[in-house]
Amino acid sequence: MAKEKFLPTLQALAPFEKVGFYEFYNAKQCIFKGCEKNLKLEGGSLNESISRSTLIGRFYHQVMEEVGKVESLEDLHLRVEELILDYQQLLNSNPNLVSSGSFSGWKEVNTAAKRAYQRYKNKDNVQKAVIAEAEKLLVSKDGCFIGRPDYFTISGDCCNLVELKSTSIRDNRGEIKEDYNQQLLFYSFLIFDNYPIESVNAKLQSLLGDSESLTISKDEAHKYFQESIASLKSMNNLINKISDLNIENITAPGIQQCQYCNKKIICSSFKKSQFNLQLQGATYVIEGILKAHNKLSQSTDSLEIFDINLKSQTKVVLNGKSTLPVSIGGKYLIDNLKFEDNIFRGTKLTEIYSCHD
Ligand code: SF4
Repeated sequence: MAKEKFLPTLQALAPFEKVGFYEFYNAKQCIFKGCEKNLKLEGGSLNESISRSTLIGRFYHQVMEEVGKVESLEDLHLRVEELILDYQQLLNSNPNLVSSGSFSGWKEVNTAAKRAYQRYKNKDNVQKAVIAEAEKLLVSKDGCFIGRPDYFTISGDCCNLVELKSTSIRDNRGEIKEDYNQQLLFYSFLIFDNYPIESVNAKLQSLLGDSESLTISKDEAHKYFQESIASLKSMNNLINKISDLNIENITAPGIQQCQYCNKKIICSSFKKSQFNLQLQGATYVIEGILKAHNKLSQSTDSLEIFDINLKSQTKVVLNGKSTLPVSIGGKYLIDNLKFEDNIFRGTKLTEIYSCHD
């Protein structure tokens, strides 16, 4: 029988203190989605979904960071090889990615390594800058915002900032993705707050070869900072007003924000409104009491569940799981289901959680 997983329960929620870019960006869409460090869960944990692009992004950032640490090109080659072995192990241990082949064979991995070697060869030019920092933790003077820009140099009163991206930097209209634009502003104001500079030349560099540059003035960064402070204050006011850990006043369900949100398994707003969102793929969640369990074949199960959020009985068909950690009368949450022809169907991403009562 597969190992039993438990659904985490929310124990406490505090106002935001030091908030990083993606927490803040997510919280502007839906406050509860942005809650990470200010959230206390018990009895289980939320999944961190590791996708191919997450792995590539992490590898890309790590090899670029190594450029600033190593003493020679040979050392860099050795570090890149060590990192590739580490990532291969991660790949082998992740059921969603285990069939993705050899990590060293991925095209983006080779491109990332080549860019790191190229950056190492250009190091001498960079060292002419007064300050060159990779992944340095910056904190705003008021202590509310934190971030680690990928890479920046400071020469005189000018900063050159580079943010590296493992996927496309443009949306389907060819515009720079909104979160990337905001990330450049966010890091720029952190740099203005920490160094006596007058402007930031910010560049987004994609592993796919595309790049985009823009200049951010002190006034522009200051305006963004003032708006961010006001926005953080109003989010914290709402969090402070919550009683009995009822999160519904700090959630804002919507297809864009909910589609890839890892909080949906503990989000009552999502569970109640998921059918109005026109979600795509295996993003549905069912939570309820198991009423019947039939084996349709050795690896296909049919479950009848009374959905406690929708107050109705529903059918779930799961494939490819030889044994299920379920028993009649038990309360479960099943995550990552598709909804087709009025039936919920499992996928290879589907997970079953036992609920604490
Ligand atoms: S599932 Fe949707 S509503 Fe719930 S926290 Fe995530 S984004 Fe917000």
